[in-house]
Amino acid sequence: MAEYKLKRLATNRINAGGKLVKALDFQNEDKAKHLIEGTVVILNDDNQNFLGKMLVGRQNKGLGWIITNHQDEYWNEEFVYYALEDAIEKRQAFFEDESTTAFRLFNGEGDGIGGVTIDWYDHFLQINWYSQGIYEYHDWFLDAIADLLSSVKGVYETIRFQTDEAELISLTSGEEAPKPLIIRENDINYAVYLGESWMTGIFLDQREVRKFIRTQSNESMSVLNVFSYTGAFSVAAAMGGSPRTVSVDVANRSLELTSEQFELNGFDFEQSAHEVRVMDVFNYIDYALKNHITYDLVISDPPSFARTKKVVFRVEKDYPKLAEQLFKLTNPNGLTILSTNNSKYRLEDFQQDMINLTQKLDGTYYLIQKFELAEDYPTSQDEESNYLKVLVFYREN
Ligand code: SAH
Repeated sequence: MAEYKLKRLATNRINAGGKLVKALDFQNEDKAKHLIEGTVVILNDDNQNFLGKMLVGRQNKGLGWIITNHQDEYWNEEFVYYALEDAIEKRQAFFEDESTTAFRLFNGEGDGIGGVTIDWYDHFLQINWYSQGIYEYHDWFLDAIADLLSSVKGVYETIRFQTDEAELISLTSGEEAPKPLIIRENDINYAVYLGESWMTGIFLDQREVRKFIRTQSNESMSVLNVFSYTGAFSVAAAMGGSPRTVSVDVANRSLELTSEQFELNGFDFEQSAHEVRVMDVFNYIDYALKNHITYDLVISDPPSFARTKKVVFRVEKDYPKLAEQLFKLTNPNGLTILSTNNSKYRLEDFQQDMINLTQKLDGTYYLIQKFELAEDYPTSQDEESNYLKVLVFYREN
């Protein structure tokens, strides 16, 4: 097996439990660039001490992930089998909980193998492949799944790396899922569509936030949900008693998909005061500010990057500007929930930026709650791994 030396800083990171390796971590970066997808290489420190074995798999986060820090552990079918077995074991409580039928079954590096995630949607699986390197072993994963999870009805795979393959999503074993497939989360129904896009209709990593929104909502609460997608946060608020939610998303399908989520939970969407505005969030915000329309609960979960006719939005740079407007749209005694899944915007920075901002505004705001990834999303020590941050602010006056 080929061996490579890492720089001092990278060595320290890996000794502290880091799993992500970048080309610039190599003493000879040029060699790193020539590594072939799917190969396993040995990484050493400056003094030729063994650090770990890395599977080469390029993705936006880096060159590959350490799969083991043990010299006598080998990358083979059994390795994959045992990693999956462990992951399943850790999710026993989810399998047994009838009120929640969708969750993350395998979370990449947090479950020992970077570059692949697997979600459980009520007996259907979606496997997401983030690098060519790991994808080369997909048969090992499919075989292990067949052995370990006999109740799986169908497996979808999505390709999330740059490739010439025509099919970026396909059913690779078993039967097609119903369209929609209705999953439950804490006894709320959600429609998911497998096999169309890697975005299935629900982001499972926001489960705890939806639960929080439901418990905070009540009969006198109006809700604004921007970047609402299929309106999952709005439905959670409505289930908690909120009579009026406004969901804003520029995607045309968001109207139909959001109304479907409401209907699945017993609401007559057309007759209700719940609304979807298919439009640019930034335009909606201008309109609401101009017309002094305010809400008791404001929720924002933007993509890391968005480009519209008017605006280019980059979370790390532009979230404070957006948040400032959202705070202004929040009533006294109300809540503002700000989420980001950008791994480059660190929790400390996000939190500090938002607190600094609230101190400049009229009104008094308190950070009252934070959410990160839940237990079905274990992470490695790498900051890239712990991507989700959600801050909840209470506006006192
Ligand atoms: N909060 C959602 C997930 C948001 S995904 C949930 O909990 O399910 C990001 C969404 O932002 C996408 O649906 C996309 O259509 C929308 N979007 C991106 N840029 C936008 C813009 N400028 N205005 C409105 N929606 C936008």
